[in-house]
Amino acid sequence: MFDVIIVGGGAAGFYAAIQIAELSPELKIAIFERGKTVLSKVKVSGGGRCNVTHGEFLPKELATNYPRGEKELLGPFHKYAPMDVMAFFEEKGVPLKIEEDGRIFPKSDSSQSIIDCLVGEANRLGIQVLKNSSVKTIGKIEEGWQVTTMNKHYQAKKIMLATGSNPKIWKQLENLGHHIIPPVPSLFTFNINDARIKGIQGLSTYATVEVMPKKTFNTDKKALNLKSRHKDEAVLYADGPLLITHWGLSGPAILKLSAWGANILHDYNYTFKIKVNWLPEYSTESMEAFLKELKGVEAKKTVMRTNVTELPKRLWMRLVEAANIEPNERWADIKKEQLQGLAEQLTASSFKVEGKSTFKEEFVTAGGVDLKEINFKTFESKLHPNLYFAGEIINIDAITGGFNFQNAWTGAYIAAQAITS
Ligand SMILES: Cc1cc2nc3c(=O)[nH]c(=O)nc-3n(C[C@H](O)[C@H](O)[C@H](O)COP(=O)(O)OP(=O)(O)OC[C@H]3O[C@@H](n4cnc5c(N)ncnc54)[C@H](O)[C@@H]3O)c2cc1C
Repeated sequence: MFDVIIVGGGAAGFYAAIQIAELSPELKIAIFERGKTVLSKVKVSGGGRCNVTHGEFLPKELATNYPRGEKELLGPFHKYAPMDVMAFFEEKGVPLKIEEDGRIFPKSDSSQSIIDCLVGEANRLGIQVLKNSSVKTIGKIEEGWQVTTMNKHYQAKKIMLATGSNPKIWKQLENLGHHIIPPVPSLFTFNINDARIKGIQGLSTYATVEVMPKKTFNTDKKALNLKSRHKDEAVLYADGPLLITHWGLSGPAILKLSAWGANILHDYNYTFKIKVNWLPEYSTESMEAFLKELKGVEAKKTVMRTNVTELPKRLWMRLVEAANIEPNERWADIKKEQLQGLAEQLTASSFKVEGKSTFKEEFVTAGGVDLKEINFKTFESKLHPNLYFAGEIINIDAITGGFNFQNAWTGAYIAAQAITS
């Protein structure tokens, strides 16, 4: 018999256990972890450096990074935000640093510092960590809750589920009457096989990317609830650095699309068309007008060798080639259709996406416990008292940058407050 059982020895589970023990040292707390090691995702996170959180300190701004959970996390972020997480780790002897793009890492650049801190604190506070203890069933009893592992029953007054994206636990929750939003991957890169980007991997430039609708699908924007991330006829829209890789396209612009479009791109079976504007300050029309001017001014130069834009040179050359302009053709000899073609390549390059690849630094599953069934003042189930959730088990996920861990820390902290109150 425990006072609190936490199922899942990941970021949310450990953080919650530590907060509960600090607030109420007299409570008997156990973490059940199915694996032989705990915090395994923390270990590999952020390319082994663990992007703990993000240097965005305004709750409203912070919440906009969550395609699922923006509205629900606003209140919780007013109570517990990145600053609090930073204070927690720094007070426990893990100095952190904020990088230029806002991502926060341990100064050691090693996720092991975070693991050592959380495991050390759990030991110090007398939290029982039961490894190799996969929880198979969760049931209500008169006194609270009972969990069953392979061959043992354990009971507690209160229970927190922090099992990440484990379908078996979601199934258990369905048996308890909860709705589970079907899981789909989020944070991935786009596979594209196209001569224009072959052999120039590593190039990065600021661009806008639009996902075009598939005719056979209901792409009614209202029905998709895609909010402000789209324009014109595109179903999704994002801007940011765009990185050319061996397999296609990646970088913040693509990762944003993969997160905001997790559901629709899953419905599209990851096969769809995108339009890239490599020079977002121009529209196709204004680019054509600009190129016409250029034709007059640079008449004697070859198009290929003219450095007219901010674009990386090799990419410019590929786009010129794609507009059917020969390497030695001069501006003076360029026909109207070629100019139009080049303007289109620069501002509305169409690419066919055929599949996705894992973004190694961070990925997450969209889907989980329906947000409507959780009280976000306490992270308690609205259906069952004394049942709490935190982390990826909930239908909340974020774009890359430390926001996914922040969801785990915030949920764990608020649930701990409620559990001990
Ligand atoms: C490669 C990779 C890199 C990432 N990098 C970052 C990053 O740098 N920054 C960031 O913010 N996010 C990152 N993420 C996302 C982040 O790791 C998750 O959002 C976060 O770990 C969620 O925490 P959690 O505690 O909810 O779930 P998890 O970390 O998944 O922990 C759940 C735990 O529960 C255990 N468990 C599951 N079922 C049972 C059961 N039945 N019984 C007992 N135990 C069970 C699991 O074994 C696991 O240990 C990354 C993800 C991946 C995959």
